[in-house]
Amino acid sequence: MKRSIPAAAAATVLNSAYLDPEFSAAVVHWQKQHGRHALPWQQSRDAYRVWLSEIMLQQTQVTAVIPYYLRFLDSFPTVFALAAAPAEQVMAHWSGLGYYTRARNLHLCAKQVVDRYAGTFPADPALLGQLPGIGRSTAAAISAFSYGTVAAILDGNVKRVFARVFGIDGYPGSKTVEDAMWRRAQALLPARDIASYTQGLMDLGATLCTRSRPACPRCPLQTRCVALAEDRTAELPMRKPKKVLREKQAVMLVLLHEDLVLLEQRPDSGIWGGLLSLPELDGMRDLAGAHAAHVTAALPQIRQLAEQFGVVGEIAVLPEFSHVFTHFKLHIRPVQIKLAQRRSMVAEARHSWCDLQQLHQAALPAPVKSLLTDLADARPAAFHRA
Ligand code: SF4
Repeated sequence: MKRSIPAAAAATVLNSAYLDPEFSAAVVHWQKQHGRHALPWQQSRDAYRVWLSEIMLQQTQVTAVIPYYLRFLDSFPTVFALAAAPAEQVMAHWSGLGYYTRARNLHLCAKQVVDRYAGTFPADPALLGQLPGIGRSTAAAISAFSYGTVAAILDGNVKRVFARVFGIDGYPGSKTVEDAMWRRAQALLPARDIASYTQGLMDLGATLCTRSRPACPRCPLQTRCVALAEDRTAELPMRKPKKVLREKQAVMLVLLHEDLVLLEQRPDSGIWGGLLSLPELDGMRDLAGAHAAHVTAALPQIRQLAEQFGVVGEIAVLPEFSHVFTHFKLHIRPVQIKLAQRRSMVAEARHSWCDLQQLHQAALPAPVKSLLTDLADARPAAFHRA
């Protein structure tokens, strides 16, 4: 899959309000004195090695990456060797490192660098960003380390440092906050020492400005850090806001005649598409709607609906239970209706009677299956009479 640098990236307007040469000077100075210099991939500016390490370091700690990086280089010393290797061999070398899409993209990327660029990684971050598995920040890092290109990075570690130093509120994964951080990252770039600056930001985030318990007394940015001054290091960067789950309610009719229960086939599309379920009174409704009223108020309609299928006997409102979908929580209020007699023909072809002992063979949604199984196991049960 082709990944391209977002148009916004190329067009990031330099925001003069964010210009701050002392910031990069402090980071560069600290990196040269205290940053990491002995990592295996830091011993070379070869773009193949830099790229390999950057991909491996996405979502994986340095200590876990080192042995994999060394083994990879041993087996695939050049991009040509990697591109020519069978996919299974590449996957076997990645095995244990996790996030296997990275390995598949790595292999694809090596092939494209060989085919399109004769084995030389392009220096332009915009071109690097079009290769599989290379995002905007990774493209900038590869280009900065390999070719000295002045380009901004913004990975999770850098976002954390920025959020704290500059006191940036809002979730950094949101588009607005992220765009503002990119503008800041761009404006903060130094004219020289880009490799030390890039490495310095990475080192700060990985070794000092860690998620919990940042080592502020040793940080070169402590005198200007808003989070430290305002005692907000635990609060920044802000967490992803929790989604408020919509709540819906469905009144489901458990129509029983002797050992049979009436099932209704759901429409092919939508929730539980094509499965068998229970007839519902007016479908799934927002909890704030009319269904929020106590179900006993709807008993006349329930009775009317039930009469389509037979002669209504006892009605009992069963305890409510809920089921959580990705986008909403459904409160299910079952109403059990015993039919003294059932009509020989059901109202529509999508209805069918199922023996309670044969439920395991029916394609039912999980919560409906467990409701009916419980009912079948517990019969006869004393339910609250409506
Ligand atoms: S002073 Fe502390 S919180 Fe602020 S950037 Fe440095 S390590 Fe992070």
